[in-house]
Amino acid sequence: MQARFVFYGSLWDFLPKARRHRPVTVEFRAPQTVKHLVEALGVPHPEVARIEKDGQPVPWSHQVQEGEEFHVYPFLPGEAWPYAHAPRFVADGHLGRLVAYLRLLGFDTLYDPDWDDPHLAQLAAAEERILLTRDQGLLKRNQVKMGYWLRSLQPAKQLEEVARYFALARWARPFHRCARCNEPLVDVPREAVADQVPPYIWRTHTRFRRCPACGRVYWPGSHVARLQVLFRQVLEGSS
Ligand SMILES: [Zn+2]
Repeated sequence: MQARFVFYGSLWDFLPKARRHRPVTVEFRAPQTVKHLVEALGVPHPEVARIEKDGQPVPWSHQVQEGEEFHVYPFLPGEAWPYAHAPRFVADGHLGRLVAYLRLLGFDTLYDPDWDDPHLAQLAAAEERILLTRDQGLLKRNQVKMGYWLRSLQPAKQLEEVARYFALARWARPFHRCARCNEPLVDVPREAVADQVPPYIWRTHTRFRRCPACGRVYWPGSHVARLQVLFRQVLEGSS
């Protein structure tokens, strides 16, 4: 049996170069669901916004028949998170720098390099978190409903990708969350941190926040000047 698939836009990133920009024909013997065939071609289901046949949406459980043709669409920027509150994330063990960036932008992001794939998928499902990963196989797990495969290996580029894909500018609250612990920061009086920040910083800043878990002190403004430049670029790019 044969079926044809036409993929669009960012879904090409999962296909070998020779298969992009044109329909892909698949041969199969036993009855298969559309999910099985799409993922066998390399495209993880969480990045698919919808599948259409003859202009009508089909569910993932659709049993593919001989000669059918499917059009498979990615999410447009912001579509993958249509809710009225900030998205929450869980990231795989290779994404430590990206995790710190997301937390510094205010996003609740779980991360532990010791977590294995079943645990990551289970956590994403149980807490309705977006799974961020460099592992396409992990995204294909049935449990995973929302997720994104990082194209880049560079943390700053990864942040740009995530910010654009999920339109994060709407939700960002820079310097409201600890980069190390993911805890929301609490305001502390300036006097309380006199001996905990460099003297120059203490003299030139009036507002300080502290992580209730690890005690680290943050100050909005020039805490990490380089990061702020990066955030501005990223957020402008995703608005
Ligand atoms: Zn902390």
